[in-house]
Amino acid sequence: MKISRYIKDSPTLKFSELAKERNRRRERIISLGISEPAFDTPLPIIDATYDAIKKGYTKYSNSLGLIELRELIRDKLLKDNGINASIENIVVTPGAKQALYLALMALLEPYDEVINITPCYVSYIPQIKIAEPTAVIHNIDLKKDDFSLDWEKIENISNKKTKVIIINFPHNPTGRMLHKDEMDRLAGIIRDKSCYIISDEIYEKLNFSGLPHYSIAAFKDISERTVTVNGFSKAFSMTGWRIGYLTANKEVIKIVSKIQQHINTNTCTFVQKGACAAFSLSNGHVSSYNKELKDKASLMADIIESNHWLSLVPPMGGLFAFLNISRTGLSSDDFSFNLLSKKDVAVIPGVSFGEQWDDHVRISLVAGKDEFEDGIKRIDRFVREIKGI
Ligand code: PLP
Repeated sequence: MKISRYIKDSPTLKFSELAKERNRRRERIISLGISEPAFDTPLPIIDATYDAIKKGYTKYSNSLGLIELRELIRDKLLKDNGINASIENIVVTPGAKQALYLALMALLEPYDEVINITPCYVSYIPQIKIAEPTAVIHNIDLKKDDFSLDWEKIENISNKKTKVIIINFPHNPTGRMLHKDEMDRLAGIIRDKSCYIISDEIYEKLNFSGLPHYSIAAFKDISERTVTVNGFSKAFSMTGWRIGYLTANKEVIKIVSKIQQHINTNTCTFVQKGACAAFSLSNGHVSSYNKELKDKASLMADIIESNHWLSLVPPMGGLFAFLNISRTGLSSDDFSFNLLSKKDVAVIPGVSFGEQWDDHVRISLVAGKDEFEDGIKRIDRFVREIKGI
């Protein structure tokens, strides 16, 4: 089949299948591979959804999304992100993942160049290739010492053919966020090169850095060339509900809405009603969850600090830490599979997120505190044992 020529199987899906298989055999596994928050979807969202079903929100909705939901998203974008969007510029989609794909479908034309920051979310590269098989992808690595953007490389590689830069902060898998001066510099590049930027802000609310989250679309002069993607999966633990959204200029929205009409018709109508209830929550659930994530990240840093073969750039947000295993001499695949078989701990090999990241593994901060601590201690012991200590 045509698609199989350029789309590889998702390596993290394969790996979690392996861990699930061991779970199915009732073998105790500590999964540090999980990519969804541990808390339940807040009850008011569930109640509002039940209510919507009973009240007949079971038919097609406006393809862009229910007006009342888009009004709430518009208000949120202005209040939280400084983005001045109208409801005509917002499309509700079945997940942020679908929003990303629709944006790529709308923007990419044959032989366009895309700057993709690596390590990256496993779906970016396949999505670019599905949206436009001839697209030229420039994968630009974050700097290994602090996961900051490599400005020189980005500036050197971007040219007239650069159609779009994709960013994701808070970042999966490193947990990095952008500081204000970095955001200014990035905005300068978009201005100079007149390209688009897709900003995936799905982890916006999972922020334990003490610093504000910045949205690139808040820069008025480049907001027209920005597609901001966000959703409900991470902030409201709604991964299975499949609801997200994007905001972009009118031209992009016109194409996105045409594709959406023919691919999805609309996002599930009663799920949209449920999502409306998310905006009346106090977000206290996220503050306490961020505290838990921060505590686990510090706990991990303390354990790792005394291990000469491992190093860590502490995460600032999101759900993950990206552990440097280069001094162990193992590839990320070997490290992960051996760790699973010898210590029953599942992590995700760094190579899943980019070719140059075979010297890292992604550790999810989602497991309960005791299980998490046990998992990190096992990683520490595993490395000491292979090094003969
Ligand atoms: N973007 C990033 C960076 C992600 O990590 C994920 C999911 O893990 C998504 C998008 C997809 O989010 P959704 O569940 O809303 O489709």
